[in-house]
Amino acid sequence: MAKEKLELVEVSPRDGLQNEPDIVSTENKLALIDHIVRAGFRRLEAASFVNPKKVPQMADGDAVFAGVPKRDDVTYIALALNLRGVERALAAGAKEINYVFCASDGFSIRNNGGTVEETFAVWPDVAATAKAGGARLSATISTAFGCPFDGEVALSRVVEVAERCVAQDIFELALADTIGVGAPSDVHERFRAVKAAIPADIQLRAHFHNTRNTALANAVAAVEEGVRVLDGSLGGIGGCPFAPGAAGNVPTEDLLYMFTRMGFDTGVDLDGAIAAAHFIGGVLGRTTPGMVSRAPKWPA
Ligand code: ZN
Repeated sequence: MAKEKLELVEVSPRDGLQNEPDIVSTENKLALIDHIVRAGFRRLEAASFVNPKKVPQMADGDAVFAGVPKRDDVTYIALALNLRGVERALAAGAKEINYVFCASDGFSIRNNGGTVEETFAVWPDVAATAKAGGARLSATISTAFGCPFDGEVALSRVVEVAERCVAQDIFELALADTIGVGAPSDVHERFRAVKAAIPADIQLRAHFHNTRNTALANAVAAVEEGVRVLDGSLGGIGGCPFAPGAAGNVPTEDLLYMFTRMGFDTGVDLDGAIAAAHFIGGVLGRTTPGMVSRAPKWPA
């Protein structure tokens, strides 16, 4: 019997690096992306197009997009938070744009520059611009499990934001636990409610941070809810400059090991992913938090 597919979207070049205090060179970002593609990942977040004064680590998004391996079978995602970012992403050649909304006003004001209500005003323009530019569009709801400023986020709020996201033509909707506060019960509840509220042809994606060591358990819960697209960051690096205390993303190689052993086919080579995680650790000059890259090879 053919194994069931599970897509791992590698976000280390964007979410992974954006919180790093030292600017990683374009050259090293491209070398990392090369490692990622060679390991077998076919979809990755290459850069964000946000205010370079606020997120200097992502100021070279254009150069990164210009330098990535040109392959028809690999999708490089550009992240944007406003119309200007979408236009810059399209100009850089992005064929897929991930647009971010927040479930909470406190985070939305700091991360997206306006309340949730305010940020939706531009959504029809964003969708029309992406379509005219030939890029497919996905949306992420950040702080879908809790907000560093507003605290608990009501499930009804997440569902409401999801409904507003799908009012435009998107192929995928992601729920993000930006500050890693969710537990598997929250993941079951939130994905189940959102799935019931949106059209069945919109694919669901999950984005977890491991701030409180719940990310792997949350990923399993998401897959149990039928989610087949999971974000990860090699080495477990990452965080958000606007989320105090945010720790790394779920380490991709740890997701990869676990879900491969659970019988899923991700198309990604574990040794290649581990080599990429080691490369990131070398660039950053420190041991990364992911565990599988530091464990003995298994099966030996
Ligand atoms: Zn994140």
